[in-house]
Amino acid sequence: MLRQSQSPPPPPAKPEASLKVISGGMFSGKTEMLIQQVRRFKFSPKSIEVLILKPRRDTRSDGVLSRNTLSESAVAIDETISLMRLLDFDSETRVRLERADVVAIDEAQFFSGLVAFCKQLVYVHHKHVIVAGLTLNSKAESWGEVSQLIPHAHVHMPLTAVCRRCGRESAIYSHCNVHKTENILIGDSEYEALCGHCYVEAISDATFF
Ligand SMILES: [Zn+2]
Repeated sequence: MLRQSQSPPPPPAKPEASLKVISGGMFSGKTEMLIQQVRRFKFSPKSIEVLILKPRRDTRSDGVLSRNTLSESAVAIDETISLMRLLDFDSETRVRLERADVVAIDEAQFFSGLVAFCKQLVYVHHKHVIVAGLTLNSKAESWGEVSQLIPHAHVHMPLTAVCRRCGRESAIYSHCNVHKTENILIGDSEYEALCGHCYVEAISDATFF
């Protein structure tokens, strides 16, 4: 039988070592959700160290910036090198990684070595890891390692955008209005979020099926 005057259990010392993946198309609020998830730890009674990583090509701000102008400071990482290299050699980033309780990765589709890196962070270095990224490129093809990371996630937060053409709240495709040979999807006004119905109407080739 419970006693009436039982005091609550003490809060955990650090965030749980686990993996959270935020996926979705463009304009679905992934960066905003990542920032919100990170900011929750500011209310912890314990001192929680947070490190946010972003690809170097994301030059929209010094940190990470959501479309509704939420922002947090972040460290820009050369996305042409595997993330695993960050664990291999002594660097300022490695020191900050070791200190961090929470590691967040924005625009994760640009990084190679993502799956191995996140598993190492959780199971070897006992970090709370939050990843946000696209799973498809503008041709609706699988892109990067975020899709491969999702089965390893303890929490998966799939987000959708509002379709730019019909207003359905199920836009998961990022359609590009001009021909592009590269996947430069950061802050690009030539892209629009489309639902499947409008995407099929918008594409001129039959590669979707
Ligand atoms: Zn639509």
